[in-house]
Amino acid sequence: MSFKYDPGDLGPNEVEIAITHCGICHSDLHLIANDWGISQYPFIPGHEIIGTIKATGTEVLSLEVGQRVGLGWQSNSCGICEWCTRGMENLCPASEGTCVHRNGGYADLVRANSRFVIPIPEALESEHAAPLLCGGITVYNPLRIHGVNPSSRVGIVGIGGLGHLAIQFARAFGAEVTAFSTSVTKEEEARALGAHNFVNSRESKAMKEVVGTMDLILNTANADQDWGVYVASLRPTGTLAFVGVPPSPVSIHAFPLISGQRAISGSPIGSPYMLKEMLDVAARHGVKATTELFPMAQVNEAIEKVKKGKVRYRAVLAN
Ligand code: NAP
Ligand code: ZN
Repeated sequence: MSFKYDPGDLGPNEVEIAITHCGICHSDLHLIANDWGISQYPFIPGHEIIGTIKATGTEVLSLEVGQRVGLGWQSNSCGICEWCTRGMENLCPASEGTCVHRNGGYADLVRANSRFVIPIPEALESEHAAPLLCGGITVYNPLRIHGVNPSSRVGIVGIGGLGHLAIQFARAFGAEVTAFSTSVTKEEEARALGAHNFVNSRESKAMKEVVGTMDLILNTANADQDWGVYVASLRPTGTLAFVGVPPSPVSIHAFPLISGQRAISGSPIGSPYMLKEMLDVAARHGVKATTELFPMAQVNEAIEKVKKGKVRYRAVLAN
Protein backbone atom coordinates (compact mmCIF):
# COMPACT_ATOMS: atom_id res chain seq x y z
CA MET A 1 0.00 0.00 0.00
CA SER A 2 1.44 3.40 -0.86
CA PHE A 3 1.64 6.04 1.82
CA LYS A 4 2.31 9.80 1.68
CA TYR A 5 3.67 11.96 4.45
CA ASP A 6 4.75 15.55 4.90
CA PRO A 7 8.26 15.72 6.39
CA GLY A 8 8.01 19.49 7.03
CA ASP A 9 10.90 21.90 6.53
CA LEU A 10 14.36 20.48 5.86
CA GLY A 11 16.44 20.82 9.05
CA PRO A 12 19.71 22.82 8.88
CA ASN A 13 21.85 19.66 9.28
CA GLU A 14 19.69 17.40 7.13
CA VAL A 15 19.91 16.34 3.53
CA GLU A 16 17.14 15.01 1.29
CA ILE A 17 18.01 12.05 -0.92
CA ALA A 18 16.19 11.11 -4.15
CA ILE A 19 16.27 7.33 -3.80
CA THR A 20 17.36 5.19 -6.74
CA HIS A 21 17.93 1.87 -4.89
CA CYS A 22 17.04 0.31 -1.55
CA GLY A 23 17.99 -3.17 -0.35
CA ILE A 24 15.59 -5.36 1.67
CA CYS A 25 17.33 -6.34 4.90
CA HIS A 26 15.81 -8.99 7.16
CA SER A 27 15.58 -6.29 9.86
CA ASP A 28 12.86 -4.65 7.73
CA LEU A 29 10.89 -7.90 8.01
CA HIS A 30 11.43 -7.94 11.79
CA LEU A 31 10.15 -4.33 11.92
CA ILE A 32 7.13 -5.05 9.71
CA ALA A 33 6.20 -7.97 12.03
CA ASN A 34 7.05 -5.93 15.16
CA ASP A 35 9.31 -8.82 16.31
CA TRP A 36 11.30 -6.37 18.46
CA GLY A 37 8.28 -4.51 19.92
CA ILE A 38 9.55 -1.14 18.63
CA SER A 39 7.46 -0.64 15.48
CA GLN A 40 4.94 2.20 15.16
CA TYR A 41 2.52 2.01 12.24
CA PRO A 42 2.17 3.24 9.61
CA PHE A 43 5.80 3.46 8.62
CA ILE A 44 7.92 3.02 5.50
CA PRO A 45 10.69 0.42 5.97
CA GLY A 46 14.04 0.47 4.16
CA HIS A 47 17.55 1.30 5.35
CA GLU A 48 19.98 0.21 2.60
CA ILE A 49 19.57 3.33 0.53
CA ILE A 50 21.46 4.79 -2.41
CA GLY A 51 20.38 7.90 -4.29
CA THR A 52 21.39 11.42 -5.18
CA ILE A 53 21.18 14.47 -2.98
CA LYS A 54 18.17 16.59 -3.86
CA ALA A 55 18.50 19.28 -1.19
CA THR A 56 20.87 20.22 1.63
CA GLY A 57 20.11 22.08 4.88
CA THR A 58 21.66 25.50 5.48
CA GLU A 59 24.48 24.14 7.70
CA VAL A 60 25.50 21.17 5.55
CA LEU A 61 29.01 21.80 4.21
CA SER A 62 30.19 18.28 3.40
CA LEU A 63 27.69 17.23 0.69
CA GLU A 64 26.35 18.74 -2.50
CA VAL A 65 23.15 18.55 -4.50
CA GLY A 66 23.50 15.90 -7.22
CA GLN A 67 26.11 13.84 -5.34
CA ARG A 68 25.56 10.03 -5.16
CA VAL A 69 25.29 8.95 -1.54
CA GLY A 70 24.23 6.11 0.74
CA LEU A 71 22.25 5.93 3.98
CA GLY A 72 22.06 2.88 6.23
CA TRP A 73 20.28 1.83 9.44
CA GLN A 74 21.26 4.94 11.42
CA SER A 75 20.02 8.40 10.42
CA ASN A 76 21.11 10.47 13.44
CA SER A 77 22.74 10.42 16.88
CA CYS A 78 23.13 12.99 19.66
CA GLY A 79 26.63 13.99 18.47
CA ILE A 80 27.85 14.96 21.95
CA CYS A 81 27.92 11.83 24.14
CA GLU A 82 31.05 9.79 24.93
CA TRP A 83 30.28 7.29 22.15
CA CYS A 84 29.61 9.94 19.47
CA THR A 85 32.76 11.87 20.35
CA ARG A 86 34.79 8.64 20.27
CA GLY A 87 33.64 7.93 16.69
CA MET A 88 31.36 5.12 17.85
CA GLU A 89 28.08 6.83 16.93
CA ASN A 90 26.45 3.43 16.36
CA LEU A 91 26.60 2.93 20.16
CA CYS A 92 24.96 6.30 20.98
CA PRO A 93 22.06 5.73 23.41
CA ALA A 94 20.04 8.34 21.48
CA SER A 95 20.71 6.72 18.09
CA GLU A 96 17.91 7.25 15.55
CA GLY A 97 17.06 4.43 13.11
CA THR A 98 16.29 5.45 9.52
CA CYS A 99 12.99 3.51 9.60
CA VAL A 100 12.30 3.25 13.34
CA HIS A 101 9.58 5.73 14.39
CA ARG A 102 10.23 7.44 11.07
CA ASN A 103 10.02 6.69 7.36
CA GLY A 104 12.76 4.96 5.42
CA GLY A 105 13.81 3.96 1.94
CA TYR A 106 11.01 2.01 0.20
CA ALA A 107 10.13 5.46 -1.10
CA ASP A 108 10.98 8.26 -3.54
CA LEU A 109 12.73 10.48 -0.99
CA VAL A 110 14.30 10.16 2.45
CA ARG A 111 15.97 12.58 4.85
CA ALA A 112 18.77 12.13 7.36
CA ASN A 113 21.37 14.05 9.33
CA SER A 114 24.26 14.70 6.93
CA ARG A 115 26.77 12.96 9.27
CA PHE A 116 25.13 9.62 8.39
CA VAL A 117 24.99 10.19 4.63
CA ILE A 118 28.07 8.73 2.98
CA PRO A 119 29.42 9.37 -0.55
CA ILE A 120 29.56 6.21 -2.67
CA PRO A 121 32.90 5.46 -4.39
CA GLU A 122 32.66 5.62 -8.17
CA ALA A 123 33.78 2.01 -8.68
CA LEU A 124 30.65 0.68 -6.91
CA GLU A 125 27.41 0.14 -8.83
CA SER A 126 24.36 1.32 -6.90
CA GLU A 127 22.41 -1.94 -7.23
CA HIS A 128 25.25 -4.03 -5.83
CA ALA A 129 26.38 -1.44 -3.26
CA ALA A 130 23.03 -0.60 -1.62
CA PRO A 131 23.15 -3.77 0.57
CA LEU A 132 26.55 -2.69 1.88
CA LEU A 133 24.91 0.23 3.72
CA CYS A 134 23.44 -2.12 6.35
CA GLY A 135 24.34 -5.75 5.57
CA GLY A 136 27.90 -4.90 4.57
CA ILE A 137 28.78 -2.64 7.50
CA THR A 138 27.16 -5.03 9.99
CA VAL A 139 29.56 -7.83 9.06
CA TYR A 140 32.59 -5.63 8.30
CA ASN A 141 32.54 -3.99 11.75
CA PRO A 142 32.97 -7.20 13.83
CA LEU A 143 35.75 -8.42 11.53
CA ARG A 144 37.56 -5.17 12.39
CA ILE A 145 36.60 -5.20 16.10
CA HIS A 146 37.95 -8.74 16.52
CA GLY A 147 41.14 -8.05 14.58
CA VAL A 148 40.67 -10.57 11.78
CA ASN A 149 43.93 -10.97 9.83
CA PRO A 150 45.63 -13.47 7.50
CA SER A 151 46.26 -15.93 10.35
CA SER A 152 42.57 -15.94 11.43
CA ARG A 153 40.12 -18.77 10.87
CA VAL A 154 36.67 -17.26 10.51
CA GLY A 155 33.31 -19.05 10.40
CA ILE A 156 30.22 -17.37 8.94
CA VAL A 157 26.87 -18.81 10.09
CA GLY A 158 23.93 -18.25 7.71
CA ILE A 159 24.61 -17.47 4.07
CA GLY A 160 21.97 -14.86 3.31
CA GLY A 161 22.18 -11.11 2.73
CA LEU A 162 24.65 -10.49 5.54
CA GLY A 163 26.43 -13.85 5.33
CA HIS A 164 27.32 -13.69 1.63
CA LEU A 165 28.94 -10.27 2.21
CA ALA A 166 30.71 -11.56 5.34
CA ILE A 167 32.36 -14.35 3.32
CA GLN A 168 33.71 -11.77 0.85
CA PHE A 169 35.01 -9.35 3.51
CA ALA A 170 36.59 -12.12 5.63
CA ARG A 171 38.33 -13.35 2.50
CA ALA A 172 39.52 -9.79 1.70
CA PHE A 173 40.98 -9.63 5.23
CA GLY A 174 43.07 -12.69 4.33
CA ALA A 175 41.37 -15.14 6.70
CA GLU A 176 40.60 -18.81 6.12
CA VAL A 177 36.82 -18.71 5.72
CA THR A 178 34.30 -21.43 6.58
CA ALA A 179 30.63 -21.09 5.63
CA PHE A 180 28.14 -22.75 8.01
CA SER A 181 24.83 -23.19 6.24
CA THR A 182 21.59 -25.12 6.53
CA SER A 183 21.27 -25.02 2.72
CA VAL A 184 23.58 -27.49 0.98
CA THR A 185 22.54 -25.97 -2.34
CA LYS A 186 24.57 -22.86 -1.41
CA GLU A 187 27.93 -24.66 -1.28
CA GLU A 188 29.10 -23.88 -4.81
CA GLU A 189 28.12 -20.20 -4.52
CA ALA A 190 29.66 -19.86 -1.06
CA ARG A 191 32.96 -21.17 -2.42
CA ALA A 192 32.72 -18.82 -5.44
CA LEU A 193 32.23 -15.90 -3.02
CA GLY A 194 35.47 -16.86 -1.26
CA ALA A 195 34.74 -19.56 1.33
CA HIS A 196 37.54 -22.12 1.62
CA ASN A 197 35.32 -24.60 3.47
CA PHE A 198 31.59 -25.33 3.61
CA VAL A 199 29.91 -27.06 6.58
CA ASN A 200 26.32 -28.30 6.51
CA SER A 201 25.31 -27.12 9.98
CA ARG A 202 22.43 -29.63 10.12
CA GLU A 203 24.91 -32.55 10.01
CA SER A 204 26.34 -33.35 13.42
CA LYS A 205 29.23 -35.32 11.89
CA ALA A 206 30.34 -32.27 9.85
CA MET A 207 30.03 -30.06 12.96
CA LYS A 208 32.20 -32.49 14.99
CA GLU A 209 34.96 -32.23 12.39
CA VAL A 210 35.40 -28.49 13.05
CA VAL A 211 35.52 -28.66 16.87
CA GLY A 212 38.23 -26.31 18.21
CA THR A 213 39.19 -24.79 14.84
CA MET A 214 37.77 -21.24 14.62
CA ASP A 215 39.05 -17.91 15.97
CA LEU A 216 35.85 -16.01 15.20
CA ILE A 217 32.39 -17.30 14.38
CA LEU A 218 30.03 -14.61 13.13
CA ASN A 219 26.36 -15.55 13.35
CA THR A 220 24.25 -13.78 10.74
CA ALA A 221 21.27 -16.18 10.95
CA ASN A 222 18.00 -14.99 12.41
CA ALA A 223 17.09 -18.43 13.80
CA ASP A 224 17.61 -20.44 16.98
CA GLN A 225 20.41 -22.98 16.81
CA ASP A 226 22.49 -25.08 19.20
CA TRP A 227 24.98 -22.34 20.13
CA GLY A 228 26.95 -24.73 22.34
CA VAL A 229 28.04 -26.56 19.19
CA TYR A 230 29.42 -23.29 17.78
CA VAL A 231 31.22 -22.46 21.04
CA ALA A 232 32.77 -25.95 20.79
CA SER A 233 34.05 -24.99 17.31
CA LEU A 234 36.09 -22.10 18.74
CA ARG A 235 39.79 -22.32 19.48
CA PRO A 236 40.95 -21.01 22.86
CA THR A 237 40.47 -17.18 22.99
CA GLY A 238 37.92 -17.43 20.15
CA THR A 239 34.69 -15.42 19.98
CA LEU A 240 31.16 -16.24 18.91
CA ALA A 241 29.86 -12.87 17.68
CA PHE A 242 26.18 -12.20 17.02
CA VAL A 243 24.83 -9.81 14.41
CA GLY A 244 21.84 -11.92 13.36
CA VAL A 245 19.03 -11.88 15.90
CA PRO A 246 17.67 -15.31 16.93
CA PRO A 247 14.19 -15.14 18.51
CA SER A 248 15.06 -17.00 21.75
CA PRO A 249 17.63 -16.24 24.46
CA VAL A 250 21.09 -17.63 23.74
CA SER A 251 21.77 -20.37 26.27
CA ILE A 252 25.37 -21.51 26.71
CA HIS A 253 27.27 -23.55 29.30
CA ALA A 254 29.90 -21.42 31.04
CA PHE A 255 32.54 -24.14 31.23
CA PRO A 256 33.74 -24.03 27.58
CA LEU A 257 33.95 -20.22 27.86
CA ILE A 258 36.01 -20.43 31.04
CA SER A 259 38.30 -23.31 30.09
CA GLY A 260 39.28 -21.79 26.72
CA GLN A 261 38.91 -18.11 27.61
CA ARG A 262 36.25 -17.92 24.91
CA ALA A 263 33.79 -15.05 24.53
CA ILE A 264 30.35 -14.27 23.23
CA SER A 265 29.68 -10.82 21.85
CA GLY A 266 27.44 -8.79 19.57
CA SER A 267 27.51 -5.55 17.62
CA PRO A 268 25.13 -3.16 15.86
CA ILE A 269 25.95 -1.90 12.34
CA GLY A 270 29.05 0.41 12.40
CA SER A 271 30.00 4.07 12.72
CA PRO A 272 29.95 6.57 9.81
CA TYR A 273 33.77 6.39 9.77
CA MET A 274 33.63 2.59 9.49
CA LEU A 275 30.99 2.90 6.74
CA LYS A 276 33.39 5.06 4.68
CA GLU A 277 36.24 2.61 5.27
CA MET A 278 34.04 -0.39 4.40
CA LEU A 279 32.86 1.19 1.13
CA ASP A 280 36.45 1.99 0.19
CA VAL A 281 37.54 -1.60 0.96
CA ALA A 282 34.58 -2.92 -1.07
CA ALA A 283 35.55 -0.72 -4.03
CA ARG A 284 39.22 -1.75 -3.92
CA HIS A 285 38.66 -5.47 -3.26
CA GLY A 286 35.58 -6.00 -5.44
CA VAL A 287 33.16 -6.86 -2.64
CA LYS A 288 29.59 -6.58 -3.92
CA ALA A 289 26.17 -7.96 -3.18
CA THR A 290 24.68 -10.63 -5.41
CA THR A 291 21.27 -9.09 -6.05
CA GLU A 292 17.78 -9.64 -7.41
CA LEU A 293 16.33 -6.37 -8.66
CA PHE A 294 12.63 -5.48 -8.24
CA PRO A 295 10.83 -2.29 -9.28
CA MET A 296 9.78 -0.30 -6.18
CA ALA A 297 6.10 -1.00 -7.01
CA GLN A 298 6.77 -4.76 -6.53
CA VAL A 299 7.98 -4.32 -2.96
CA ASN A 300 5.39 -6.74 -1.53
CA GLU A 301 6.40 -9.55 -3.90
CA ALA A 302 10.05 -8.90 -3.04
CA ILE A 303 9.36 -9.05 0.71
CA GLU A 304 7.48 -12.35 0.34
CA LYS A 305 10.45 -13.83 -1.52
CA VAL A 306 12.87 -12.69 1.23
CA LYS A 307 10.53 -14.14 3.89
CA LYS A 308 10.63 -17.53 2.17
CA GLY A 309 14.45 -17.42 2.02
CA LYS A 310 14.33 -17.62 -1.78
CA VAL A 311 16.45 -14.59 -2.68
CA ARG A 312 20.08 -15.13 -3.68
CA TYR A 313 21.32 -13.13 -1.87
CA ARG A 314 19.79 -9.66 -1.52
CA ALA A 315 16.61 -8.20 -2.97
CA VAL A 316 17.07 -4.60 -4.11
CA LEU A 317 14.24 -2.22 -5.01
CA ALA A 318 14.77 0.37 -7.75
CA ASN A 319 12.88 3.55 -8.62
P1 NAP B 1 18.55 -13.19 5.27
O1 NAP B 1 19.07 -12.65 4.00
O2 NAP B 1 17.14 -13.64 5.33
O3 NAP B 1 19.53 -14.40 5.68
C1 NAP B 1 19.40 -15.10 6.87
C2 NAP B 1 20.08 -16.47 6.74
O4 NAP B 1 19.91 -17.17 7.97
C3 NAP B 1 19.46 -17.38 5.70
O5 NAP B 1 19.94 -17.17 4.41
C4 NAP B 1 19.84 -18.76 6.22
O6 NAP B 1 21.16 -19.12 5.79
C5 NAP B 1 19.89 -18.56 7.72
N1 NAP B 1 18.68 -19.14 8.30
C6 NAP B 1 17.38 -18.82 8.03
N2 NAP B 1 16.56 -19.64 8.70
C7 NAP B 1 17.33 -20.49 9.39
C8 NAP B 1 17.06 -21.59 10.28
N3 NAP B 1 15.80 -21.95 10.58
N4 NAP B 1 18.11 -22.21 10.85
C9 NAP B 1 19.37 -21.84 10.56
N5 NAP B 1 19.68 -20.85 9.71
C10 NAP B 1 18.67 -20.18 9.15
O7 NAP B 1 18.71 -12.14 6.46
P2 NAP B 1 19.79 -10.94 6.61
O8 NAP B 1 19.23 -9.73 5.96
O9 NAP B 1 21.13 -11.44 6.25
O10 NAP B 1 19.68 -10.66 8.20
C11 NAP B 1 20.06 -11.66 9.12
C12 NAP B 1 19.85 -11.21 10.55
O11 NAP B 1 20.74 -10.13 10.84
C13 NAP B 1 18.45 -10.69 10.88
O12 NAP B 1 18.10 -11.15 12.17
C14 NAP B 1 18.64 -9.18 10.90
O13 NAP B 1 17.69 -8.51 11.70
C15 NAP B 1 20.03 -9.10 11.51
N6 NAP B 1 20.71 -7.82 11.30
C16 NAP B 1 21.42 -7.31 12.34
C17 NAP B 1 22.12 -6.14 12.20
C18 NAP B 1 22.96 -5.60 13.30
O14 NAP B 1 23.27 -4.40 13.31
N7 NAP B 1 23.40 -6.42 14.24
C19 NAP B 1 22.10 -5.46 10.97
C20 NAP B 1 21.40 -6.03 9.91
C21 NAP B 1 20.70 -7.21 10.08
P3 NAP B 1 21.53 -20.64 5.34
O15 NAP B 1 20.54 -20.99 4.26
O16 NAP B 1 22.92 -20.52 4.85
O17 NAP B 1 21.40 -21.50 6.55
ZN1 ZN C 1 19.56 -3.92 8.04
